[in-house]
Amino acid sequence: MSDLSHGAAWMDGRILPISEASIGVTDWGVTHSDIAYDVVPVWGGAFFRLEDYLERFLASVASQRMDILMDAGEVQGALHEMVAASGLKGAYVSMVAARGRNPVPGSRDPRDCQNHFYAWCVPYVHIVKPDAADRGTTVWIAKSVRRIPQDSVNPRVKNYHWGDFTSGLFEAKDKGFETTMLLDHEGNVTEGPGFNVFAVFGDRVVTSEHGVLHGITRRTVLEMATARGLTVETRPLPLDELQEADEVFLSSSGGGVIPVVQVDERRFSNGAPGPVARALRQTYFEWLEEPRFRSPIRYD
Ligand code: PLP
Repeated sequence: MSDLSHGAAWMDGRILPISEASIGVTDWGVTHSDIAYDVVPVWGGAFFRLEDYLERFLASVASQRMDILMDAGEVQGALHEMVAASGLKGAYVSMVAARGRNPVPGSRDPRDCQNHFYAWCVPYVHIVKPDAADRGTTVWIAKSVRRIPQDSVNPRVKNYHWGDFTSGLFEAKDKGFETTMLLDHEGNVTEGPGFNVFAVFGDRVVTSEHGVLHGITRRTVLEMATARGLTVETRPLPLDELQEADEVFLSSSGGGVIPVVQVDERRFSNGAPGPVARALRQTYFEWLEEPRFRSPIRYD
């Protein structure tokens, strides 16, 4: 078999090297970003919280009125088979439902499209490199764009509408910041490319409920915070309030809890990760190893 260690894909029941996986140019996934997807991490040879990611994915697929002709068990089987074939012990695993091509000439009726499922995996992705995350990262508030309103594109369905994030990332990189965070039209903090945002005020941890993907890592953070005796508040988080926080951090399946030391010109905790973010980051890596969250992969 060809080398799959750089990544593998599952397409129509076949396992391919990632470099050979593709979809057609007329697929609505390409022409209209018409995709619902999810990303589950593999850590130390096991999926983390696989049922939770699968449940979110299948809810997204249903809400987009797609039918991928596979049930949860079949999707799970495809993911296991693909990662096992790749041999990857740490992986970023993407499951994708695409609207597909419309076989009816000239049809603009989405009901005519042939929806399809595929999956791919590559070595584990840290959205901020681990040593940079340990030191604390920097975030630029996008000025030229606001997050796509939640009543235009539902952010709770993980999607490929990244135009707003990409504009924000260009701004951030041009200013020398690691990443970007977007506001809604009321000036509340929403999320960024691949992460949710948290602010810490003493023993209170605040994160937005609206206008964001309900990240599985966000859920894990809320559980870890509660277990530490912290109070959690899920509610709108105005930028002015975030700028007064003791600490700010991000949550993502690509690296867990990521402390933030700077948002625009405001520096937090004297430019070093704060104690709450550091503790939650450590606990996240411990929870990745806990059997109750793990679905081990059989590589033989
Ligand atoms: N928000 C957006 C827009 C994302 O793309 C992601 C993940 O990629 C997240 C939040 C974090 O979600 P999770 O913790 O499930 O990775």
